[in-house]
Amino acid sequence: MDLPALIEALRRVLPERERIALHEPEFGLAERQALLDCLDSGYVSSIGKYVDRFEQELAAYTGASHVVAVVNGTAALHIALKLAGVEQGDEVLMPALSFVATANAATYCGARPHFVDSEFTSLGLDAAAMDEHLRHVAVASKEGWRNRETGAPLAAIVPMHTFGHPVDLDALVALSERWHIPLVEDAAESLGSVYKGRHTGRAGRISALSFNGNKIITTGGGGAILTEDAKLAERARHITTTARVGRGWTFQHDEAGYNYRMPNLNAALGCAQLTRLPAFVEEKRALAARYREALHDVAGLKFVAEPADTCSNYWLCAVLLDEARGSTASASCELRDAVLQATNELGIMTRPAWDLLHTLPMYADCPRAALPVAEALARRLINLPSSPQLGRV
Ligand SMILES: *Cc1c(COP(=O)(O)O)cnc(C)c1O
Repeated sequence: MDLPALIEALRRVLPERERIALHEPEFGLAERQALLDCLDSGYVSSIGKYVDRFEQELAAYTGASHVVAVVNGTAALHIALKLAGVEQGDEVLMPALSFVATANAATYCGARPHFVDSEFTSLGLDAAAMDEHLRHVAVASKEGWRNRETGAPLAAIVPMHTFGHPVDLDALVALSERWHIPLVEDAAESLGSVYKGRHTGRAGRISALSFNGNKIITTGGGGAILTEDAKLAERARHITTTARVGRGWTFQHDEAGYNYRMPNLNAALGCAQLTRLPAFVEEKRALAARYREALHDVAGLKFVAEPADTCSNYWLCAVLLDEARGSTASASCELRDAVLQATNELGIMTRPAWDLLHTLPMYADCPRAALPVAEALARRLINLPSSPQLGRV
């Protein structure tokens, strides 16, 4: 791996600045005006015109029939899993290579994550490897497939669109149908990413988006549930609004619901940010194209490009380092760390992929498949600065 050539290439793509963040939000006049208007309206909390507008505009952008805005992406995924039928004692199939929120959302349902491997092309769930794994581990019961070792029902499959790159949804939908296990997309990173002409987050019954500060658009904190199913949408709206049934001055609630609805203040910010989303996607794709070209001739690494038939939002650009000489895992980790060290010392914020979820203390005992690709990705992958501003030349 040619470290000086990598640094030279990054310098050519990036502006000359003391410090270049991994991902920065951008706000302007539209955001200020929307927030002030929201304050002046007096409606800053979970009722207000901006929440309705944000949901409608998100539905129009993604093509989803129903959108329910909530307090964050983790809450969106929690409710999506619950409405897909995930219950206490179930297992939820998900990639080991993901942000911790994917596993936490399953935990909030009283379920356990069951980790499966990823593929190199999309960095997301490998449908063929999962099929093979299920053949070994799943056993049929009256209520559906169970894990033959733990006895737990296999209640959902949760693909995640890693760094914005759409996973192979056709293969996963086929797998979900073959095994009768519902698909719930964690689309937290893929607002603006399209798989075969269709926005991500629309393949399963229900899915989740995030608008955290580091995502492609932000509401400060926020998330959304997407679904094509009117009944599920109604349920989602109900249980995220403390399951309130009373009208006027009555406060009646028909189950233990959640206070998960997005406040109007956050939605106001979201409406302003949404107007910039198409430009952000274009700028991030332009930045990716420049990285790709600049890194083309750098020995010992490959720029991670969008999979065929997809249009990625390139939320976080990434390179995959070749396995280090000698091909021992620790040599590759040392090489990755040397690249991280050298770039960060120059003020170019890079970072490794997440620690694989089964290596975290609370998920160490969870069931899992062999994870050779996720392990290789974790020791070889590096994210590059990816703010949309960097793609503006
Ligand atoms: C950001 C993110 C979430 C949700 O995060 P919040 O901070 O709760 O909005 C979930 N899954 C993945 C993969 C994410 O990157």
